[in-house]
Amino acid sequence: MNVLRITPRGFCHGVVDAIRLANEAGAQHQGPVYMLGYLVHNAHVVNELAENGVQLVDFDDRMAGLEKIDHGTVILTAHGVSPAVKQRAIDKGLTVIDATCSDVYITHDLIIDLTSRGYEIIYVGKRGHPEPDGAIGEAPGRVHLVSTTDDVAALDLENDRLAVTTQTTLSIWDTQDVIDAVVAKYPHAEVHNDICLATQDRQEAAVQAADVCDLVIVVGSNRSSNSHRLVEVVRNVKQTPAHLVDSADEVDLSWFEPGMRVGITAGASTPARVTREVIELIEAYEPELEPVAIA
Ligand code: SF4
Repeated sequence: MNVLRITPRGFCHGVVDAIRLANEAGAQHQGPVYMLGYLVHNAHVVNELAENGVQLVDFDDRMAGLEKIDHGTVILTAHGVSPAVKQRAIDKGLTVIDATCSDVYITHDLIIDLTSRGYEIIYVGKRGHPEPDGAIGEAPGRVHLVSTTDDVAALDLENDRLAVTTQTTLSIWDTQDVIDAVVAKYPHAEVHNDICLATQDRQEAAVQAADVCDLVIVVGSNRSSNSHRLVEVVRNVKQTPAHLVDSADEVDLSWFEPGMRVGITAGASTPARVTREVIELIEAYEPELEPVAIA
């Protein structure tokens, strides 16, 4: 097949830093070492860390997960946690390693700053994802999570100091609708778009490639927000078909037809090895032309 390797793709700086910290902890710390939830949203990464001695404690509710850990070292994941979770880990006497991405901390700092000056925050994010949970925990009761324009319609805020910000891994196209709805309802709201550069760069490259490809394959986990957004932007912005695969095993050869050009990208938490296996499989595949019936 004719394959276009879309760049940039794969690991971002936050994921690289988090994996380095976790591997160092697994190698250096005495006693058990735990990651509180998926360090990054990719099972290949988490399984490799487990082989290096970092055990997964997988609870959606980080505080509930923490209660399962009695001693040793706990690694806070790249998505960040609320200050209450971090304080509880310290109070339990655990050694805390904070692998929160610096881009996530930019949003936390923004929330701390604005709420200390009397603002309420409208946070555009995905319900149930750990990143909004951590950000909202910076100022409980003063940060309002919205995912859709319907959520915005349901808001009832009277504060004349309002600001809107976003989860780092959403799509620049999808969030615009929600932000527009906030500004239409609350014209005085300050807009801070905190989608990180790594997410934006990967999305823009995928959308650009979709112009010259018949199909785009995104290598990433079903848990990964930024991988799902890559599929969505290709489908929604360019109307180009796109599929998410976790590994080469999930590639369905019936997707391919002779003469197709296939773009391949990867989420920010997908190891290069896994993406390489998908590229090699698709490059080596040659779909056969349907036999032409001769009358
Ligand atoms: S996707 Fe963005 S926010 Fe998330 S870890 Fe990577 S750089 Fe940080």
